[in-house]
Amino acid sequence: MKRSDFAIVGGGIAGLTAAITLERLGIDYRLYESAPELKGIGAGVGLAANAMHAFEYMGLREEIEQLGHHLPSFNLWDEKGEILLKPDTQKIAQTFKQENFVIHRADLHAFLLSKIESSRISLGSRATRFSMENKGVQIGFERQHAAECEKLIIADGVHSTLRQQLIPNSKPRYAGYTCWRATIDNSKLKIDKGIEVWGRKGRFGLSPLVNDRLYWYACINAERNSKEKAAYSVRDLKNVFVGYPDEVQHVLAQTQDSDLILNDILDIKPLKRYAYGSVLLIGDAAHATTPNMGQGACQAIEDAAVMLSVLRKNSTVSDAFTEFENRRLSRTRYIIRQSKRIGDIAQWEHPFAVFCRNSLMKILPYRWSQKPIAKLLNADFMKSN
Ligand SMILES: Cc1cc2nc3c(=O)[nH]c(=O)nc-3n(C[C@H](O)[C@H](O)[C@H](O)COP(=O)(O)OP(=O)(O)OC[C@H]3O[C@@H](n4cnc5c(N)ncnc54)[C@H](O)[C@@H]3O)c2cc1C
Repeated sequence: MKRSDFAIVGGGIAGLTAAITLERLGIDYRLYESAPELKGIGAGVGLAANAMHAFEYMGLREEIEQLGHHLPSFNLWDEKGEILLKPDTQKIAQTFKQENFVIHRADLHAFLLSKIESSRISLGSRATRFSMENKGVQIGFERQHAAECEKLIIADGVHSTLRQQLIPNSKPRYAGYTCWRATIDNSKLKIDKGIEVWGRKGRFGLSPLVNDRLYWYACINAERNSKEKAAYSVRDLKNVFVGYPDEVQHVLAQTQDSDLILNDILDIKPLKRYAYGSVLLIGDAAHATTPNMGQGACQAIEDAAVMLSVLRKNSTVSDAFTEFENRRLSRTRYIIRQSKRIGDIAQWEHPFAVFCRNSLMKILPYRWSQKPIAKLLNADFMKSN
């Protein structure tokens, strides 16, 4: 039976950044990933200042910045194109020492992978269970022999099989809306700003990327696993978003059916623990959140930076895992709850509720509307408790 000091299950952003942390520390590990190939599926991903600071702590910031795009502005509009919120991007960039930054997932994945020894990765390895033994942890797989390790890092995402074995009532929760994403050519459109539109039929957001690409997302209220929505083509989406601002129409006109990626939006109820002796939960497996604050991947990256800090500091791994839990629980809990609240309000459909929300947003003092993001970015997540 194979044995390593650490095992990581899951090769998403959380698993790969955790692997970089272990590489930095010279720790022996293996990473088990169920997919036959590791690549970033999805469209763009926004990395806020906190994620970039975490990358800086890991010594990766400068290289990552070469791969993405700094957004000069990101505004929130109503469906007529009137401004609901216009964050002062320059001031935010000065305060938090980072401009809005977006990157394509595939580019981020490829970069993270390039920092890991490929011989440490086992692809096509779907973990199905684990057991804590006296001398470590045994991991069972779908189609291969079990593996043994001293410490297990669970990073298998929101649907995490291993988390649900550990905490059976931690099933993913459906947020009530489903989300299409696509990456398209921006060479003719030349859209150079980020926009999110809140309307009665749903939300539509878009953001330019490097190399003349652009990604967009659209969230519509729907039943969970809706077969009707799964069959939607670009034409159906054009019908939904008819009357939305020109940018939305242009972007949809440029999109092919084969570009569409559909996901129901999920999170998990905040957990009470992330550390279980020799086992640690990270990333979406630990604290999956709705994407309304753009923080899911950012929090996975923070996890890796905090893991680097606690493993450097503590003499035993169990103490390091406990400190990790103490430093991560309340911050990630806040994000899950706040992000869910924002999504609930953003997805309102009733015309009167939407009218009241939009009217209020137009007169709300700027500082008040920025409170959740300021709370998030002002906190020093690298500080020990
Ligand atoms: C529409 C949308 C938009 C988003 N936008 C943003 C954004 O702008 N900014 C941001 O910060 N976040 C964003 N997020 C959130 C972000 O995508 C996630 O938080 C992040 O990808 C989580 O990474 P992860 O590695 O924890 O999980 P995942 O990406 O889910 O990776 C888990 C990995 O584990 C593997 N796996 C699963 N089960 C097993 C198993 N049993 N055995 C072995 N391997 C397994 C999977 O194949 C996968 O590779 C968005 C999410 C959505 C849905």
